[in-house]
Amino acid sequence: MSTLTPETKEKILSSIRTIPDFPKPGIQFKDITTLLNNPEAFRTLMDHLQERYASYDLDYIAGIDARGFIFGSVLADRLGIGFVPIRKKGKLPYTTVSEKYSLEYGFDEVEIHIDAFGEGGLCRERPARVLLIDDLIATGGTAAAAARLIDKVGARCVECCFVLELIFLKGREGIDAPVYSVLQL
Ligand code: AMP
Repeated sequence: MSTLTPETKEKILSSIRTIPDFPKPGIQFKDITTLLNNPEAFRTLMDHLQERYASYDLDYIAGIDARGFIFGSVLADRLGIGFVPIRKKGKLPYTTVSEKYSLEYGFDEVEIHIDAFGEGGLCRERPARVLLIDDLIATGGTAAAAARLIDKVGARCVECCFVLELIFLKGREGIDAPVYSVLQL
């Protein structure tokens, strides 16, 4: 399996910009737009993910609204498999299944189309093998809810993948699937 050298990791990490106090005071926002518009860093990242997941026998990539769509759809195209969006409540037009998760104050909700992975989530006569992807894992609430959605529609979340993990928040502990992150802070 491919490994990134510390130098290559540093190159990708340094292409991500930190915006202090966005969207509210105290948050260090990790802005991946500066990674996306750096063709060398973006290609190195996507080459790594393609190499890692080529042997996973995946049927679909599911990406979390909205930055997970960018990495997820590029990876799906490279692996020659389908892409499925997991969206914030009220955005998907067909029949959906939804899952709530807690925020600091209140809750949020993510949704998926009921037939996103085929009827009953079945693909090649077994539960579809799905990789969940997002740009960043913080508390893990969003990804945990998204992984539950994949199970709810009958498919199997074989791994959750993030470009960047804020390890001090221990978000991976709440996720009921293997977790992989390319970069850690
Ligand atoms: P969480 O549910 O706490 O793991 O939050 C993950 C979601 O919120 C992901 O979709 C991230 O894009 C976004 N997010 C959370 N914290 C940050 C941050 N510090 N910088 C950028 N995005 C963040």
